[in-house]
Amino acid sequence: MTDAPATLHQFLEGVRAGRLTAIRCSKCGTAAIPPKQFCPECGQRAWEPLTLSGKGTVASFTVIRVAPRGRAAEAPYAIAAVQLEEGVSLLGRVVDVPLDAIAVGLPVQFRPVQSLDQTVIGFAPAKDVLR
Ligand SMILES: [Zn+2]
Repeated sequence: MTDAPATLHQFLEGVRAGRLTAIRCSKCGTAAIPPKQFCPECGQRAWEPLTLSGKGTVASFTVIRVAPRGRAAEAPYAIAAVQLEEGVSLLGRVVDVPLDAIAVGLPVQFRPVQSLDQTVIGFAPAKDVLR
């Protein structure tokens, strides 16, 4: 049995540094993010680290027009569930895309985003990253 190499704290530290890391079950290959104690697929606890490319596509999204307290100036903005290449999905803020141009299937790339005094998970259009 291997200890999970990635804690939630380490995961968020990575986000701040512009890195996405997940864990992958060494028994069945299921990837998980953020870190979990046991594999949701096979119930084992045999995680190994998995560095994510950060590339994925928008699986679903919602536009926040009334933001939580303190973030009113940032609204409206979109939060998307992004299906990453490695098979895990992650919620993040969509940046650098006009709200009416966001669509399911849009290719995006992870980018850390500054929101108030926090770094949050963001996704920018993939084509911008390649340029
Ligand atoms: Zn498993």
